Amino acid sequence: MAKKSIRDLDLKGRRVFVRCDFNVPLDADGNITDDTRITAALPTVRHLVDAGARVVLASHLGRPGGERKAELSLRPVAARLGELLGGPVAFADDCVGDAAAAAAGELGEGDVLLLENVRFYKEETANDPAFAKAMAEGAEVFVNDAFGTAHRAHASTAGVAAHVGECAMGFLMERELKYLKEELESPARPFVVILGGKKVSDKIGVINALLDKADTILIGGAMQYAFRKAQGHAIGDSYAVDEDIPVAEELLGKAEAAGVRLLLPADSLEADDFSDDANTNNISPYAEGGGIRDGWEGLDIGEKAIGEFCAVLADAATVVWNGPMGVFEIDAFAKGTRAVAEAVADSGAVSIIGGGDSVTAIKKFGLADKVTFISTGGGASLELLEGKELPGVAALDDA
Ligand code: AMP
Repeated sequence: MAKKSIRDLDLKGRRVFVRCDFNVPLDADGNITDDTRITAALPTVRHLVDAGARVVLASHLGRPGGERKAELSLRPVAARLGELLGGPVAFADDCVGDAAAAAAGELGEGDVLLLENVRFYKEETANDPAFAKAMAEGAEVFVNDAFGTAHRAHASTAGVAAHVGECAMGFLMERELKYLKEELESPARPFVVILGGKKVSDKIGVINALLDKADTILIGGAMQYAFRKAQGHAIGDSYAVDEDIPVAEELLGKAEAAGVRLLLPADSLEADDFSDDANTNNISPYAEGGGIRDGWEGLDIGEKAIGEFCAVLADAATVVWNGPMGVFEIDAFAKGTRAVAEAVADSGAVSIIGGGDSVTAIKKFGLADKVTFISTGGGASLELLEGKELPGVAALDDA
């Protein structure tokens, strides 16, 4: 069932409690080093301002562990948001109680207030009902736009909904659901899923959920070595977690039974050091008895794999990508990830980058504006791809 959207709300003069994800990176002096998350919330905030709502914003920042920590104050975010909006953003020193109530009470139509870090209270992550009620005090509408924390049932992401009359998703949340859920219900085919990164166990749910839907699943990154080990190939010192091997074996069997092409890299780039100065070799393809020697580790997909993966992507109509093909942070091992990023960008497919390190990679290669959608969530996007319902979405009103 679709959820109520911010577009459906009558907003003029109403007090709106908005959960945003302003969990931005800060340097040692408390300066914001990347304001992507603040920018991502602007469409929702601007819409509320233009509609004449009294806007109360809430967010977490870092992991203060239920204690007030000056270095994790959201005050710098209020300043930055004000610059981006081109108008003042008030700040309340607390997210509940007298300070929050007084600041919210002063809001005129179109005014914006940011509350202090909700995780200064341990009741936030415990989803304490009394705390949720205190935060919702005076709010007539709840808008959840914090996609990155929507997979957590916390007081400000889910609990508040029980204490507010009308609950809807913001524009960012709506877009994430459109691409990571609706668009994939009946994807244009061929539908290709690319998975990489490190741990099979983090992505097993996604592989399981998409086995029924995808035409081809491409597996790169360190993850591939659990599969190769399961097949009995030598993987040398490549990263593989013992508990992932039987999981990988089971997935290979499931893919075969479902008739889904689960394509592993045909070859690898092996290296004798985790650095740009490493000696490297492109091993011969696994199908020809190739493998990685002891003392060496596979840090990127090989030349044949790059060719095969790019050919699959060239024909794709829908692509979902989560996880790099190799250690792209080191130039010597970035070729596979770069080639896949370029193939996704050039494919003409609906291309959905599912959060985390593949987002960093696509930005690093300057291809962010050549893909259809880049998710702002890590864990939340994986859970959506797994087909799970996110608590921060479930709590909202149906459309
Ligand atoms: P994840 O958080 O599971 O998406 O993993 C992302 C990380 O996996 C990145 O930091 C990559 O450097 C790393 N990675 C990718 N391929 C390999 C590999 N072959 N060996 C070790 N680490 C890798």
